[in-house]
This record gives sequence, structure tokens and C-alpha cells, in this order.
Amino acid sequence: MSGLREECGVFGVYAKERYALAHTVYYGLFSLQHRGQESCGIVVNDDGVLSGYKDLGIVNDVFTNEVLNKLSEGEMALGHVRYGTTGTNDRLNAQPITVNHIKGSMALAHNGNLVNSHELRSALELQGSIFQTTSDTEVIAYLITKERLTTNSIEDAVNSAMHKIKGAYCLVIMSSTKLIAARDEHGFRPLCYGVKEDGTYIVASESCALDAVSAKFVRDIEPGEIVVFDNDGVRSIRDHCKKNAKSLCIFEYIYFARPDSVIDGVSVHSARIRAGRCLAQDYPVEADVVVGVPDSGLDAAVGYSLESGIPYDIGFIKNKYIGRTFIAPGQKAREDLVKIKLNVVKEVVEGKRVVLVDDSIVRGTTCARIVSLLKEAGAKEVHMRVSAPPFLNPCYYGTDIDTRENLIAVNHEIEEIRKMTNVESLGYMKIDRLPEILGEDKDMGFCNACFSGDYPTETPVQVAKFKFEQRISERG
Ligand code: SF4
Repeated sequence: MSGLREECGVFGVYAKERYALAHTVYYGLFSLQHRGQESCGIVVNDDGVLSGYKDLGIVNDVFTNEVLNKLSEGEMALGHVRYGTTGTNDRLNAQPITVNHIKGSMALAHNGNLVNSHELRSALELQGSIFQTTSDTEVIAYLITKERLTTNSIEDAVNSAMHKIKGAYCLVIMSSTKLIAARDEHGFRPLCYGVKEDGTYIVASESCALDAVSAKFVRDIEPGEIVVFDNDGVRSIRDHCKKNAKSLCIFEYIYFARPDSVIDGVSVHSARIRAGRCLAQDYPVEADVVVGVPDSGLDAAVGYSLESGIPYDIGFIKNKYIGRTFIAPGQKAREDLVKIKLNVVKEVVEGKRVVLVDDSIVRGTTCARIVSLLKEAGAKEVHMRVSAPPFLNPCYYGTDIDTRENLIAVNHEIEEIRKMTNVESLGYMKIDRLPEILGEDKDMGFCNACFSGDYPTETPVQVAKFKFEQRISERG
């Protein structure tokens, strides 16, 4: 319950025949909702004609039956859920983005953040490009359509554009006749595809979305790979593969992804269990019960219990009908919402020494509030265990860890944080043990820059979320 926001989720469908695709995308987006709750959209391709709908809000609210029925039929479709890490929460910035260009139409959905979007956008603007949105996704769309002028196919245009864009991106692109999936050379964000029994191909940010539409997982898309789905079947372009070491976001395993997803061969649930085991080995304590903070602390709490032998129990009941805490404007409202969102099961913690496991501590305020709820319910001691190392650096790859001033660990020693959160002991995941959470795949290569400061790419010159909306006085 870190209060961090995920990036985005992408979903694509390539069917052999025309059918009610929008519903399939709807189910897929519904299962990717945890990756973004600000806006969502679907574009359907019906015999080469692209039509879509997008709006602010969660999937369930935006896509009413009426909206879905209007969109429904086609042979291909794209969907997107968004938490904007670049640009305001504006309807215009919702995705997919659809563009009409000299060679046809294209829709694009993007997960991640570019590290050179500022330079690319300035260069395009100098050449006369006019942007409608403030998100870097439009920069990618422009680059692809520009490359399309001098290339033979849309996949060649994507391939050329990938030489220019740097940073984190998983793209699903739809032309009149093709669905294309592409993952950046570092593989920061997850992307996989599967196939349904009727031969319909599905591309999704996470495998849980394949499960939701009864598609069988085929494989993850490799870092740097472009996969094309068209009349000729499925083919892969690997010009960008193996050019860089893989840098999958380790925080996908700790917090962002759903535990029922498998990313690059590693089960998210199992990774969290292993994280909990590491915490139990590094920070043993005499206690009566282990509880996890719903949702992303639960699996690690089970891991801590399995390793330590201290019984696991359900310490909190989460109100499923409330939005995420960060939706609340202002700190006071956020604190009050913690109590509405989580209620302590008093019988589990009263008079007990409690091990409390959570995925991360960002500002520390939510954590302190949760601890106070436990103590108000009668917990004798609270021993906090955190399955992520302390956040010390911003993330440039599609999450909102972007200001050092808000990260409690930047300005406070662990002992100070222990006192501020009012726990008897505090143990963070050790950074050198992070590879172990990947089990046998510990050497796969991952990004841990927000903990270590070791960035796999150049870092952007301008990083503010609202970088394209600066006032005159703020511009350099
Ligand atoms: Fe993930 Fe942190 Fe790297 Fe960002 S900086 S991609 S959150 S590990």
C-alpha cells in the first residue's frame, strides 16, 4: 500500500474474423486496472476503419454497455489504462492515440516513459509538428508516422523509430491491417502475448490479462523485439534485441504487477514470497503473528511466516469499494482514507507482538497511520518489514517516484523512520538480496535505480510530469 502509482497497461487483439472485440478488450483492461486508474480507452479496427472511445475514469465507469456495443465489432482492437507519468490527467492525454497520416491510420498505446522525449519533441516542433497532447506517447506516434514516409511498412517504421526513442516503452500499435507489439531494448516494462482457442492473438502488459480472456500464454516479448500479427501469421523482428543488458523493473515484482501474473518467466507471487523469506532471514524477531498490508504486502507476509514459523493471519480487511488512497487530495484527506480503506481484525492483533509486512515506504505517513491502527486495536508490539529497499532516487521509466523531497528515506536514517512510524523494529529489504527474489532467474538483469541510483540509461534533461505544461516563467 505504498501510494505509488503504476504506469499504464496495454492490451491488443488480432482476430482471424470480425467479432465483438471491444468486449474482449474490456475484460483485458479490467484485469490491468491496477496499472492505471486515471483514464482508459479502446480503439477497434473494423475493416481498416479505426474508431474508438476514451475518457477519464476507470474501465467499469467509462465503458458502459452502450459505449461497448457501439464500438463492438472488428478484426483488431487496442486498449489502454493510464496513470499519466507525463502530462496532466487530461482527457486529451488518454490513450490509445489515433493518427491519420499519408499512408493510412494508426492507433498506439504506450506503457513507460521516454528519457529523451523533450529533445525529440523540440526537434519535431522545430520541423513544424504540432502536438495536441502533452504526453510523450504522441512523440512516438509522430516519429513512427514520419519514418513511415521513407519505409516500406509500418513495422519498418516502428523499427526505425526505435533507433531514436530512448527509455522505457512497451508499445501496441494498430494499423489498418496489422497489430504490432514492441518492447524497448532494456525491457523495463513487461509485455507478453497469447492465443485463444479460435486463433485470436492477444498482447498484454501482464499475463493475468491473458487469463482473463481465456488466452493461452505463448511467450514474453523480448527486450528490443518487434512482433507483427497480420494475415501471414506472427513474425518477429529482432534488430534491437540484445543490444543492451536487460533492465526489467524489479518493482514490478514487489508492487506494480498482479501476483497472479508471470513476468519474463518469474511468478510475481513467488517473487514476493521469496522477498518475505529474505526479510525473515535478515530481520528475525520474537513475535506472535505475521500480517500483511493489503494487497501487495500479503504475499511477502506469507513468505515471512513460512520462513520464520510465526503464524500468518489476516490482520486487515480492505474495503474493496474505495479508490486507491492517493486519489484523495491533500495529506489530511489521505490519512483519513487509510482508515476507511483498511480495518484491523482486532482478534488477530490484540495483545500480540505483530510482524507487519508492506511492499514499500514512500512518504511514511500511510505507514505510520497503519501502525497506529494496529496499536489502537491492541497490538503490543509492531515490527515493520518492508519488501523493497529504501527509495532514494527518482524513477524515469514510467512511475511517479519523481521527487526526492517526498521520499522519507532521502532525508531520514532508518532509526529515525522507525521512530516516526512508531514501530518497535524496522527492516528493509537489503538491496544486494534483490536478485534472490527472482529465484532461478536471479541473473536475468533488472533495474533497481530508485534504490541504488544506478540508472541503466542516460537520464532525462527535464523530468517533471508536467514538463510540457510549464509556465513561461518556469521555462529554461
Ligand atoms: Fe522500476 Fe525503480 Fe527502475 Fe523505476 S527506477 S524502473 S521503479 S526499479
